[in-house]
Amino acid sequence: MSNKLNDNKIFEMLLNQIKNNKTYHAYLFEIADSKSRMTTAINFAKMLFCKEKNIEKLNCDKCDICNIIDNNNYSELKIIEPEGLIIKKEQIVDLKADFNKLAVNNNKKVYIINNCEKLNNNAANSLLKFLEEPEDGIIAILLTNNIYQVLKTITSRCQIIKMNNIFKEERMLNKISNLLVLDQLNNNDFLSDERLSKTIDMIFKFLNYLEKNQQRTIVEIDNLWNNNILTKEELVACYDIMILIYKDVLNYMINIKINVFDEYKNEIDKLSVFNTKEKVIEKIKILLYLKDKIKYNANNNLLMDKLVIEFSEV
Ligand SMILES: [Zn+2]
Repeated sequence: MSNKLNDNKIFEMLLNQIKNNKTYHAYLFEIADSKSRMTTAINFAKMLFCKEKNIEKLNCDKCDICNIIDNNNYSELKIIEPEGLIIKKEQIVDLKADFNKLAVNNNKKVYIINNCEKLNNNAANSLLKFLEEPEDGIIAILLTNNIYQVLKTITSRCQIIKMNNIFKEERMLNKISNLLVLDQLNNNDFLSDERLSKTIDMIFKFLNYLEKNQQRTIVEIDNLWNNNILTKEELVACYDIMILIYKDVLNYMINIKINVFDEYKNEIDKLSVFNTKEKVIEKIKILLYLKDKIKYNANNNLLMDKLVIEFSEV
């Protein structure tokens, strides 16, 4: 989950800058999700520092520098977070002093300022001087969840990298795995990004097929369900996902709002076409009823047949 930076053009662009020694003095990343925000900054810092230049993979895990950074102990990397609601001038002054102490060696130095929209005026002025007269080898990584809240004098001095869309899917998967609170699922990889994402794709395909083909779906269940679901706990989670999907279909029909599956708007839209609100409510009831049976029922295949039949009769 932590290395999505790996998968996109932004990563390639940053990598090329590093390879060609053409990095900027300051970067401003806009990332809504707070966890992804810091992970991205740390990963980028590792790319800048890595001794092995093993940066194609991002997960160097080999060189001592990357390890020290992972342990939050690298003196050439400073991280500033808001203290309470603001970032104070003293924090920027301390940062400069810390870097001055290190100035003897000519190593690269990087500082990360999280939530840089929270710099108070004095702190921002102090930072601006730093940004206006960049010293060689010092790179700023500024982070925000909303670029429009960052002072223009700061944004104008940074290379701006907007990553909100990239993390949208990750946010959706996080949301879903948080909703599937089943202890039994913690022991396997069902909630890994890759498997969860595949499972959701599969479920949408199944439901759309079912809505369209009704009872005829029974002969296709094996193909549609792929035998990907290994345990009862996973099947329960699939029912939970289906319930969440139909709740979103209902949301979508009532107020064009999708709570969970915003990345699947087209699929939700298709499902809504087959239904009325009353039908959707009926289907949610069926799913809840059958989900309850999973724990006590020996035969999962029979349950899936039952799902198809009951849905077709709504
Ligand atoms: Zn490394």
